[in-house]
This record gives sequence, C-alpha cells and structure tokens, in this order.
Amino acid sequence: MSYRTTIGLEVHAELSTRTKMFCTSKNEPLAAEPNTNICPVCLAHPGTLPTINKEAVRHVLRVGTAIGGTLADFAEFDRKSYFYPDIPKGYQISQYEYPLVSGGELAGVAITRVHLEEDTARSSHGAGVSLVDYNRAGVPLMELVTEPVIHDAETAGRFARELQLLLRTIGASHANLEKGEMRVEANISISKTDAFGTKVEVKNLNSFRSVERAIAYEVARQAAVLDEGGTVVQETRGWDENSQKTFSQRAKEGSADYRYFPEPDLPKLLLSEVPEFSSEALTASLPELPWDKRARYAALGLKEEDAAFLGSDIMRAAFFDRVLAACANDAKLVSLAANYVVSDIAGWYAKQESADEEYGGIDAEEFAELIRMIASGELSSRGAKDILLRMLEEGGSPRALAEAHGLLQVSDTNALREAVKAVLLEHSAAADEYRAGKEASLQFLVGQGMKATRGAGNPAVLKELLIEELSR
Ligand code: ADP
Ligand code: MG
Repeated sequence: MSYRTTIGLEVHAELSTRTKMFCTSKNEPLAAEPNTNICPVCLAHPGTLPTINKEAVRHVLRVGTAIGGTLADFAEFDRKSYFYPDIPKGYQISQYEYPLVSGGELAGVAITRVHLEEDTARSSHGAGVSLVDYNRAGVPLMELVTEPVIHDAETAGRFARELQLLLRTIGASHANLEKGEMRVEANISISKTDAFGTKVEVKNLNSFRSVERAIAYEVARQAAVLDEGGTVVQETRGWDENSQKTFSQRAKEGSADYRYFPEPDLPKLLLSEVPEFSSEALTASLPELPWDKRARYAALGLKEEDAAFLGSDIMRAAFFDRVLAACANDAKLVSLAANYVVSDIAGWYAKQESADEEYGGIDAEEFAELIRMIASGELSSRGAKDILLRMLEEGGSPRALAEAHGLLQVSDTNALREAVKAVLLEHSAAADEYRAGKEASLQFLVGQGMKATRGAGNPAVLKELLIEELSR
C-alpha cells in the first residue's frame, strides 16, 4: 500500500513599501552597497522605538480581502525571541495570537492565516569571515500559511504561482523567488493511516521548479525511510540545487523555544476603527483579480489554457487588455490576436535575455492593426509573422513595414497570373504530374508561387489561378 502525502506551505513575501516595517529607513533590501539603508531603529540601538508602517498593514489586508479571509478587528505584534546576528534586537517582531488575516482560499487551497513581520538581515559566510548586511533587516514581510491540505507537488507549485501572480497583480510585492522577494517553505509528511505522519520542513526553494522537485524528492526519501522500518525525524531540511536533494539542517524548534509575548513597544491594532481598512474600502481598492481576468478571457471565447497563459504574467495581461480595447473585443480579431500573443510574442520574449516580458517596444494599437490586416487578407500569416518579428525587434507600424518589405499580400489576379505562368514554365514536370492526376503537385506549385512572390501572393488566389492555367 502506498503512502498518502500531506503538504502545507508557508510563504514569505517582502512587501512593496517606501520604508521599512518599523522605521523610516528605505525599503531597498538589495541595494548594491551593504549597510546603507539602515538607522538606529533597525540596528536595534538601545532606547529606540518602532512605529508601524501603515502601508504594510494595508498590503496584508488587501491580500486577505482578495483571498476571502477574515480580517481581524483587533491585531497585535509579538516578540519572537532567538539569538542570531541577523536579528539585532535578539527577537523578531511578528504576529502570533492575533494575525491580520485568518482563513481564506487560493487556487483551491485553504489558508490558515496571513500575518505581518519584519525581515532579517542577510548574512553571508566566507573563508573565515561572516558578513551581515542590515539593508534587509526590518523590511516588511508578509507570511502566509496554508492548511495541510495539499497532496501533490504540482498543486503546491500551482498554488505558489497563483500567489505570486496575486501579489504582483495587487502590487503587494514583486515576489521574485530568485531575488528572495518571495520564499516558499514546504512542510511535507507521508502516512498510511488517517493520522498525519511526522512533517519535515524544506527551505531554500528558489524557484517553483525547486518547490516541485524538493517535494517529490522528500516524499520518496520519507517513503524509503519508512519502508526500511525507520522513523522520519521532525526537522528542517535544505534543498540543494546542485545535487537535487534535501539535506538535514537542524532539529525543528517548537514555538515554546521562541518565548512569544506581546510587543510592549507597539500599540494594539484596532483595525475596525481605521476607515481605509474597512472591507468596503479594501475591496474597492483591488484591481481585477487573476481568476476574474481568466474568466473574462474565457468568456471572450479563448481556450482555457490560452486564457490562463495570457493572464499569468501581469505585463502580458496588461498588453493583451490594451489589444482587446483596440480590437473593440471583436471575437474574430480577439482569437487571432490571442494566437499571435501566445505563440509569437511570448515565444519571442522567451528567447530574450531578460526573463521579463516587458512589452515596452510593441504598441498595442499597432499590433491590433497587424491583426486587422491579417483578418482582411492584406497579410498572409507568413508575412504577418515576419512583420511581427520586425515590430518586436525594431518597432514600426505594420503597414509601413509591409510596404517597405513588399509583404502586402497580393490578391490582384493580373499581377499573380504572370507569376503563375512563370512557375508552370519552370516546373513543367510537376504541372504534367498534376494533369495526370497527382493532387499533391498542386500544393507544390502553390508553394513555388509563394516563393516567386516572396510570400506576398495570396495562396488561395494562387491556387485558383493555377487550376485555371493548368486546365487550359
Ligand atoms: P509548527 O508549529 O511546527 O510551525 P504549524 O501547525 O504552524 O506547525 O504548521 C506549519 C505548516 O505545516 C502549515 O503550513 C501546516 O499546514 C503544515 N503542516 C502541519 N502539519 C503537517 C503535516 N503533518 N504534514 C504536512 N504539513 C503539515
Ligand atoms: Mg508555525
């Protein structure tokens, strides 16, 4: 009998605010120069006092609203004590008993809570020296915890991607995993009974792919331990990207080790007394959410996977929305446009050095004009692909590019008949084969006609003319 896998995720995200969580130092954790965005508060000088960053609280409440969680009327901050150079006060200000958000759901996964805390400094360990950069110390950090209701790696990956998309959509975080702006920890256990098995927490997951691979690896590792009659140790493990394995880091602390208690230097949060934190105000502040966007695309007649793909990147979706406006939501144009964005434009971006689809160079109005030219037969799909590539690489209007490169599709019979006659003279053998009943030769001749017109001939018209000339 095989094991049942149980997974719960804990996701941290650095929030996009101007200043840090409890002081006025700039929130710029990746500043090139270490220890520049710091002040006595985030360095924990004696006698300093924290103040709460309202923008950070609002970000978390907006996330809570988007996922349908319950927003707290009352919340407080707590001290989580531990001793390490990356936490200069000797404790991290977090939330324990009273998180900002409880419950909610995202991508079919039940959420336990979402709370606010401060990030730690970044430490690096080299040959004989350890360095600490406090630019990140005190950066506002959101922590979202899911219920242990995920049962496979793919669902975990899908959830994490959807959360990233949500955070970016509402502007709460840039949520880049490679930059550490979003960090996913996976708690994993396996069991043959209804009772949960011992869970292991896996850290250092720097990509969605690592999340999925680490879960798969850990499930297999735990199964092997149990199959040999061993027991799974409750611990924190790291993911080693090189060996594609998890490794033991430390025994898991219990919450008692942290000696949580309410932060005496901060006031309690009476959230229901803040007008801009009312659920009406927060709901009104949200843009179209990812799942609503996908539903709108699907309602326009797009395939589910295309709707999902178009909506899965905020720049791509914003571009596509501008294209929709330029096409006045016309069903035929929309479906053509979607095809070109999904395959050609996104494909082009995928080959570029920058991982981001920026859509800075290509204008939505001009792209819509290209789509109209295809729909009206002025451009062949081959010519359109050629022009689109030029638009992406050099910019320019599709009509001007089509004229400059002789790509306007020729449907004019007189102009094409000359080309057809020339093709039949040059390829008389194929012409004879067709006359003798070989249908496939006609396709070959159409291809030659396209070649002779450098792709500008309308293939349907070429075919008609060929048949006409061949029957003479
Ligand atoms: P801890 O007190 O050890 O931090 P929590 O109960 O706070 O544990 O849960 C932390 C995370 O671990 C949550 O995402 C939760 O869903 C997940 N989790 C809890 N128990 C299990 C389990 N047996 N297997 C997998 N994940 C679990
Ligand atoms: Mg916990």
